[in-house]
Amino acid sequence: MIDLVFLGPPGAGKGTYAKKLKEILGIPHISTGDIFREAVASGTELGERVKNILDRGELVPDDIVNEVVRERLSRPDCERGFILDGYPRTVDQAKALDEMLEEMGKDLTWSIFFDVPEEVIVQRITNRRICPKCGRIYNLLTSPPKEDNLCDVCKVPLIQREDDKEEVVRKRYKVYMENTFPVIGYYEEKGKLRKIDGTVGLDKVVKEVLRLVDKDQNATRD
Ligand code: ADP
Ligand code: ZN
Repeated sequence: MIDLVFLGPPGAGKGTYAKKLKEILGIPHISTGDIFREAVASGTELGERVKNILDRGELVPDDIVNEVVRERLSRPDCERGFILDGYPRTVDQAKALDEMLEEMGKDLTWSIFFDVPEEVIVQRITNRRICPKCGRIYNLLTSPPKEDNLCDVCKVPLIQREDDKEEVVRKRYKVYMENTFPVIGYYEEKGKLRKIDGTVGLDKVVKEVLRLVDKDQNATRD
């Protein structure tokens, strides 16, 4: 069982790393941001409730997020493990997650903090473009699509998330420092935190994460 939490500022690359690692590790990638955006796009009741909050770059209330995650973790594909990306984002959410895991008889493997400075973040996010069809993430500066503004695979025009505009990015960073930064300390105190430099590039970061979880698997095998 590999149960991971990915922590870090918006734009640290959590989603990109998770998409790669879910294939390698064969465990689901659960992004609360993706869940909310899908709900907004398909106009569900949940979507109606969170749309304005997302557009402003604010946090969805804890009880709503906790319920969404509880339901998702109860599905059978999470039995072998999961990568939680974008949750927990407050200390209260971290406590709620602890309760869920205890009920499920699980013990968190690691909470991994991807460290990236604010200037790098703003640069990355404002240049981020997404394929509306397959969800692939591009960066106009560091990993541009082969053809101008078209997804390499689907050939459809890439889009910019509403909350990826600079003003909202700065707001999200502020919300992160106020609410989510303390979650790092929460896991550190429990001896559950590992830190990875999030500026060294996708391949190196993925390797680092695999080194972390590999060690655990070997340790439990001994
Ligand atoms: P980011 O790129 O900032 O990590 P996400 O895709 O994770 O963005 O989340 C987008 C938005 O969804 C957040 O700005 C917030 O409004 C909402 N959201 C996602 N996860 C949570 C959470 N755990 N708690 C509260 N709000 C959340
Ligand atoms: Zn695509």
